[in-house]
Amino acid sequence: MTIFNENKPIENQLVDLFKRKVEYLRLSVTDRCNLNCRYCAPSMPKPIQIDKLLTFEEMYRVIKIGVKLGIQKVRLTGGEPLFRNGVVDFVEKLCEIEELKEVSLTTNGTLLAEKALRLKAAGMNRINISLDTLSREKFRELTGADKFNQVWNGIMKSAEAGFSPVKINTVVMGGFNDSEVPALANLTLKYPFHVRFIEYMPIGVDPKTASDSFIPSMELKSRLEDVCGKLIPVQDKKLDGPAKRYRFENAQGEIGFISSMSQHFCESCNRMRMTARGFLRPCLLSEEQVDVITKLREGASDEEIEALFLQALALKNSRHGLTFMGEKILKTKMVSIGG
Ligand code: SAM
Repeated sequence: MTIFNENKPIENQLVDLFKRKVEYLRLSVTDRCNLNCRYCAPSMPKPIQIDKLLTFEEMYRVIKIGVKLGIQKVRLTGGEPLFRNGVVDFVEKLCEIEELKEVSLTTNGTLLAEKALRLKAAGMNRINISLDTLSREKFRELTGADKFNQVWNGIMKSAEAGFSPVKINTVVMGGFNDSEVPALANLTLKYPFHVRFIEYMPIGVDPKTASDSFIPSMELKSRLEDVCGKLIPVQDKKLDGPAKRYRFENAQGEIGFISSMSQHFCESCNRMRMTARGFLRPCLLSEEQVDVITKLREGASDEEIEALFLQALALKNSRHGLTFMGEKILKTKMVSIGG
């Protein structure tokens, strides 16, 4: 497979029109979730029949082809990835792919306590757990389920199992959980967690609702420093993602800010997404996608699937262009794309 960049052929690499090298695939293993977070799935889209979702065999084949094209890192997401039966065995198979430098998971943590040890034994090292509040009551209000204790237990079990780092992802919503930011950040004093504050994005929700609750990362950082003291910048490492990283003096863990809206990081984007329904998406914040599942089920060759990767790559825009003004509305909900 050969593609061209500055008139020079580049073998086995996914380099887009803007010279960004794609080496990271986010794979949604299911569109189902056992939580109903109001910013992610305010009204849960009806899950489609299981036979319309990619099977694990199909996902494995797509990943092997992606690896041939230079994918080095895979993150499983959803819906709730741990909600799909067989996911741990799938992780085990992925971890056996030598060329993959990293296999990781984003989860709501509700099923993690029972699966953390097996995931670690399968070869996974990194895990991101979503947690937006430390209050059991608020958790129930936000997600529709009384599962805060289960999630906290899952976080503790993954730390015990040896995941490093354990990352905690918090979407900050003004008027709902912004007052908890100091307490969440202070977890890094006691535990070696990376707590990352994510800007609220207007996906699948009314842009006005998202805009009313939006707090830009830098404002949040300065508010946090006023309460908890100075944050010291941490040097970036390759493949460490878009978070701007900091730590408190003497902390065991780190704080990160992910500013998808106020300071987008599109120029360094190295990702593509594969939805559970089998569509390749060049960008989280674009509705453009390439149908892979139909070709797979028609018996396409590896070369034909490679061509679909290139087709999706060609659709990758220079930047996402999503704002709170509502000029561009993303109707697809996060739970269906895989955040
Ligand atoms: N169920 C898993 C979980 O809860 O982590 C994986 C899927 S979830 C869609 C992935 C991530 O997307 C979560 O960290 C969630 O907080 C984030 N997310 C969902 N909707 C969002 C929004 N409107 N703005 C910012 N992040 C969002």
